[in-house]
Amino acid sequence: MGQIRILVNIVAGKKQYLFDEEGRRYLDAFAGIATVSCGHCHPDVVSTIVEQASRLQHSTVLYLNHAIADLAQALAKKMPGDLKVAFFTNSGTEANELAMMIARLYTGCHDIISLRGAYHGNAAGTMGATAQCNWKFNIVQSGVHHALNPDPYRGVFGSDGEKYASDVKDLIDFGTSGHVAGFISEAIQGVGGIIELAPGYLPAVYSTIKKAGGLCIADEVQAGFARTGSHFWGFEAHGVVPDIVTMAKGIGNGIPLGAVVTTPEIAQVLTRRSYSNTFGGNPICTAAGLAVLKVIEKEKLQENAHAVGSYLKKRLLSLQDKYEFVGDVRGRGLMIGLELVTDRTMKTPAKAETMHVMEQMKDMGVLVGKGGFYGNVLRITPPLCFAEEDADFFADVMDYSLSKM
Ligand code: PMP
Repeated sequence: MGQIRILVNIVAGKKQYLFDEEGRRYLDAFAGIATVSCGHCHPDVVSTIVEQASRLQHSTVLYLNHAIADLAQALAKKMPGDLKVAFFTNSGTEANELAMMIARLYTGCHDIISLRGAYHGNAAGTMGATAQCNWKFNIVQSGVHHALNPDPYRGVFGSDGEKYASDVKDLIDFGTSGHVAGFISEAIQGVGGIIELAPGYLPAVYSTIKKAGGLCIADEVQAGFARTGSHFWGFEAHGVVPDIVTMAKGIGNGIPLGAVVTTPEIAQVLTRRSYSNTFGGNPICTAAGLAVLKVIEKEKLQENAHAVGSYLKKRLLSLQDKYEFVGDVRGRGLMIGLELVTDRTMKTPAKAETMHVMEQMKDMGVLVGKGGFYGNVLRITPPLCFAEEDADFFADVMDYSLSKM
């Protein structure tokens, strides 16, 4: 993020738009990194926050409160299988730290496998599981193994998910006692550059991990909460059921809220000691989370993400036909990536050009993100209320910016 040259001072937001201090309007196609799900300052969410803030802001972790129970129940309804117990946190980092600790406690093992290119957070454990040097400080990183990324565009095995999965088996056989605590992955890597895991990968890895006694953790911080359109959770597109699901960002529409959902049997491990989180699950944030869920359902935002996302992807694919620079267009729903390369055969990352496109688009009133290990992937993760006209405007502005390269 530190490389954005011209910063805009945003002072207000409404639906899919942001406004700077001079009153200039921007179409927001990044949504605070896939964070604003139902639109900036959605009135239902705002009024819930105001109402809850004026009634009770904090109950401490000692007492019961409806807001937390109502959100836990609503989340459980959205989950497959026996994923029925929720713990609330203040961020995605905290959710993933907790999930990895639960996996370690439940299995009695320490080793965790994560994917190269993954981003899972910025505290000691999650920074260890994060696998891009850009995002790692020099910390002691114990018990994490980084498996080959099943990246269909740049990965060594193309789209053959099962071949990549054999690397996880090798890591277990040659890098551990044969038993592991677990495996953590996003369904579509966000920071990694909107990378969709190769088909067949997750089912094969989940089965390998289970055989090694480990738990499978789905990090739904970016891909969850209806963003991928076809499903509410990103993992569902892969036909797997995780043991633990973590979420943040979209669950709160901008409010600091994260959650870990798991089974009653696995959740039991936290009763071995005292466990608390002062602000995790406070009534304001959990009430907001429930309001977000209701808006997503009431306004059919998952269906919108599917329809508008598919339309936008089609328009962006046509830009790939038009410009040599566009090496790959990928993603699902309103989580789309465009990888820019200076040479299609060599896939040479067009890093400076990506920055340039981003800047030009900003000057024309469109905010887009970037990411990927080489910083050459434009990331499109707008609020889920993005409309077809927005998709057209976005694609036209991108077309113009690419034409000026
Ligand atoms: N997991 C994923 C997939 C993320 O994208 C992020 C944030 N970029 C995190 C975890 C960490 O979330 P937070 O910044 O809320 O700690």
